[in-house]
Amino acid sequence: MRLARGLCLALLLALFLPVLSLQARSRLADVDTRCPLFGHPFTAQAVASGDDFAAFDSDLCRRPLDHSLYILAVWTCPYCFFSAYQTDYLKPLPAEFREMELRRYTLDTAPAEIEQREIFVGVKYHNAETFYRKQGRDAWFLYDLMLRGTYSCRITVVQGTAEFQSLREQWIKQSWPHKTRFSVEEVNLAVAARVAQELDEGNLAGDSVDTMRYLRADALRRAGEHREAAAIFEDLLKGSELGSELLRDARSQLALCIKEGDFQQKAFEYLQQAQEEGLVPAENATLSVYLQGELMRRLGHPGEARKFYRRAAELPVQQEFLAALIEKQLGRVDAAPALKSKDKKKRKGR
Ligand SMILES: [Zn+2]
Repeated sequence: MRLARGLCLALLLALFLPVLSLQARSRLADVDTRCPLFGHPFTAQAVASGDDFAAFDSDLCRRPLDHSLYILAVWTCPYCFFSAYQTDYLKPLPAEFREMELRRYTLDTAPAEIEQREIFVGVKYHNAETFYRKQGRDAWFLYDLMLRGTYSCRITVVQGTAEFQSLREQWIKQSWPHKTRFSVEEVNLAVAARVAQELDEGNLAGDSVDTMRYLRADALRRAGEHREAAAIFEDLLKGSELGSELLRDARSQLALCIKEGDFQQKAFEYLQQAQEEGLVPAENATLSVYLQGELMRRLGHPGEARKFYRRAAELPVQQEFLAALIEKQLGRVDAAPALKSKDKKKRKGR
């Protein structure tokens, strides 16, 4: 997959700044910058010393141990929310494009009077997509951007209360017996499955049922199963015994689930377009068909996903890891109908 230039820069920095990583515990650097639209000054964060990745998810979302390249790759002006890859902040916009964009924005307050705001990751990638689409970037570029958007939503952590965190740790220990391999996706799927089983068997009672449902939804979202997670969060928000803090978190989690789904839908559409227009690099042909399957599966269309996985299985193997991954995911969608009916039964039982 083509690396965005912002990411390339970060990786280059990672190669050339090993000393910094030994000296500084934090591997983020503050960078004073200005948005290329209005020139609003602000401090952005960049990855200064690389990032270690624990594992890949099945849709190739790389899991950072620390913070994320995906989230930091796009910078957003905290005043006007102009969003673009880091590298595009560091060079001026073409004059006529800037003119056109400026007309879209109205500011009735001087920037100095506006507080810097916390920016929802959904806004970052949504605005970046608008910017690059207007710039006429091709469907392959936009697909890649949207895929990063889905990853960014997934890896945005909603910590929860201290009590919830220790509950989660306890269930990870109970549900993940493997000591040697670490995959964020698999650990969370194991937690979700284990909790579902306990709920099914009625081993939990009283207030803790809602907390356990929250724990299950949290694990599902961390695994990128945003649709299943969203359904549970929605249910909990309609009425539950959760405390006010977890309820507030459930709202944030639901927003992330919805945005992850939106970006996945866009990623799928751009990828289709990129294929039709012959924009997919030859070395990524098989991988891109596989990823169409992954996007369909996560969007809740296992039948469509199966078709793409099967098609990918018939194409030449271009990356060694891919053959095993295709087989594994085919197994997952084949098992999906059974899981679904079990879920329905459980819902009725509540
Ligand atoms: Zn700005």
